[in-house]
Amino acid sequence: MRKPLIVSATAPEHFPHDMAVCSFAELGAVDIAAVSFLIIPLEADWQQGYADLQRIRRHVDFKIYLCPVLFLLSKKNIPPEILQAADGYVFADSEQLTKECNTWAARLEPVNARIEQLKILSDAGDSSLAFKVLRFIETRDTEFKPIASAREQKGFVYPPLLPLFPKDDISPFQVLDYLESQRLLTATFVSRSYSCTHCDCAFLNFFETCPDCGSNDLRSEELVHHFKCAYVGELSDFIQGEHLVCPKCETRLKQLGVDHDKASVVFHCNACSSIFQEPKIMTSCYNCWRETEPENQVSRQIQAYSITAIGMNAARYGMDSLLQSILESKLNVISHSIFKKILKLESERIARYKISTSSIVIMRLAGIETIYEKLGRRSSEVFNEISKALQEQLRSADVFSVRDENIFLILMPETPVQSADLAISRLNDRIVSLLTTNLNIDCTIHKTIKAVSSDIVLDQEIEHLLRTNAA
Ligand SMILES: [Zn+2]
Ligand SMILES: [Zn+2]
Ligand SMILES: [Zn+2]
Repeated sequence: MRKPLIVSATAPEHFPHDMAVCSFAELGAVDIAAVSFLIIPLEADWQQGYADLQRIRRHVDFKIYLCPVLFLLSKKNIPPEILQAADGYVFADSEQLTKECNTWAARLEPVNARIEQLKILSDAGDSSLAFKVLRFIETRDTEFKPIASAREQKGFVYPPLLPLFPKDDISPFQVLDYLESQRLLTATFVSRSYSCTHCDCAFLNFFETCPDCGSNDLRSEELVHHFKCAYVGELSDFIQGEHLVCPKCETRLKQLGVDHDKASVVFHCNACSSIFQEPKIMTSCYNCWRETEPENQVSRQIQAYSITAIGMNAARYGMDSLLQSILESKLNVISHSIFKKILKLESERIARYKISTSSIVIMRLAGIETIYEKLGRRSSEVFNEISKALQEQLRSADVFSVRDENIFLILMPETPVQSADLAISRLNDRIVSLLTTNLNIDCTIHKTIKAVSSDIVLDQEIEHLLRTNAA
């Protein structure tokens, strides 16, 4: 049974006394698998508690940065984007605190179960911010909606994601946009907003300026159109005491829309005395004070995000698995364990009848990680091309499997090693030319091709291929 753990340098005043307390520094030594959620006291000065949440979310160990966190509140007026940055909150003075914590533990159980399913991808932890965001979204299994905030320069924020981002670093919008472009997230429209093209600040001032001298010291006046005599003039010329009287035909105007209307507005520039009807709209940024036309500012679609099936897979096993997902959608990819069974049956058949040869191919695409780094958005196009190349070189009788995203296993029945080698060379050339020649990506294909026999132990062959070609 998992238990809550309070993270605080000093034990908070009000809290259930059977709860364990540790400092942030001690967190690394805690058995996190026994923790249902962390509790951070948010005192009157919430900055300290929020900084602790940031330190947790910026950790590289996914068991720590993904761990559910609740705030323990002692006051009520915390800014909403700060409050919503945690998975939830409880009030320190609540008489039901223990009961509420139990309810939260049950509610967060699915989050902890999803964290447990994640694979450790590197001893160094998760360093890619995009990958951390993806894992965070996957484990929360909810739609991430932005809220408007006057405290954040970017205007719209995703409160639970905010603590993951180092200050003034890459924007959450860029990371979310990238993940969406990879089809790891899907987006739904929320709003559209303008932000400064220089500093990305969402706080822009829109104002009218004189098209002749650029001043924004303008006076505007309504234009009145008298139907009977067709005179058009400024409102101030019609005003006589409490009435409107046409300066041309001297008729008293009765009712708007019946004998006259207000056709438009005219502007007077107080700086250069220009008179015009179409002022030039300009924007200035409240952060960097640069001015420009609205069309030069960044118009951004504000969206809500949720995880896709490919995204879920990528969050669990690594982003590299995008290639595997594409391969699986185009080719008949079978699991590693079934591949091993088929290989065993084939070797028994060959040993029994002694009339034919089949080949087993192990291929490893070294350097596939750099495809994401170099191509970003376009990675999936390249993976589609790789899938196409495989589709064309494999025959329907060939059995295909993928391991660890970049190791391809192919069983070619009734194919001597020489013919298999020829087919694989063609495949090799096509993939290498696609990556190296066209995209300037350094990619090497390592391969082992052997005749199927009962001596072959697949895992050993893979191991051998990896070892002999290790960088
Ligand atoms: Zn008139
Ligand atoms: Zn002017
Ligand atoms: Zn700016």
